[in-house]
Amino acid sequence: MKLLENQTAIVTGASRGIGTGIAQLLAELGANVAFTYLSSEAKAKELEAELHAKGVKAKAYHSDASDYKAAEQLITDVLTEFGKIDILVNNAGITKDGLLMRMSEEQFDAVIKANLKSVFNMTKAVQRPMLKERKGSIINITSVVGIRGNAGQSNYSASKAGIIGFTKSIALELGSRNIRCNAVAPGFIETEMTAALDEKVVAGWRDGIPLKRGGTALDVANAVAFLASPMSSYITGQVLQVCGGMLT
Ligand code: NAP
Repeated sequence: MKLLENQTAIVTGASRGIGTGIAQLLAELGANVAFTYLSSEAKAKELEAELHAKGVKAKAYHSDASDYKAAEQLITDVLTEFGKIDILVNNAGITKDGLLMRMSEEQFDAVIKANLKSVFNMTKAVQRPMLKERKGSIINITSVVGIRGNAGQSNYSASKAGIIGFTKSIALELGSRNIRCNAVAPGFIETEMTAALDEKVVAGWRDGIPLKRGGTALDVANAVAFLASPMSSYITGQVLQVCGGMLT
């Protein structure tokens, strides 16, 4: 029997990058996977077909995680289609970087809404079905910059630090109902986005990491799968850093 067989997972923002890696691994481990996208429709459909080919149930939903009503509707739709929800991975996120001096109110609000409010929306909507099942694992993707801050990313760092406070509070609120809530804090993960950067800059980043390499989507997905599975059944309210030792 596979580690996540008969489990249903929702992953937000799985049409690209880390979210795709998480959806692929959860399906590989036997979970049925519902996932969302916002604009990358073709990639989402491709992923849906790829997950089906692994022999699990899979469906892509066009849904904006930062929209409260859309998140509620998504959970209703997934319950209708999949019957239950065991795992929620809040992965969707954006950046709108700039020094405070130049950061607009719009840039600040957009990042808080997409990164932090989305986690509230989805967790709130999934709470009822998980309470009914008396079981659940919620995993929120934060970042090392939510722990240590980053110049030029005050909006992003604040949203990711907010996720950590939210995670710990939900762990306290829902622990007695056998619902766990943890966060994963990736460091520098090499995705399509970073492939477009200057190779010299990226080499400098790699050199500053004790394990001397950037992380992969699979490195993050492995941590998520652990927290989603019964292998972590006595772990809640934690922040697991997947950063090659960047923050020690
Ligand atoms: P990415 O490649 O930019 O992908 C972001 C994903 O989120 C896309 O699938 C996008 O969908 C989706 N998305 C964005 N806003 C959304 C919304 N409002 N509703 C639903 N989906 C939405 O990002 P990534 O690098 O994989 O990052 C994934 C997560 O890891 C983020 O939370 C990020 O902050 C965190 N993280 C990344 C790194 C890193 O080094 N890459 C490090 C630390 C933390 P569409 O493409 O369909 O629009």
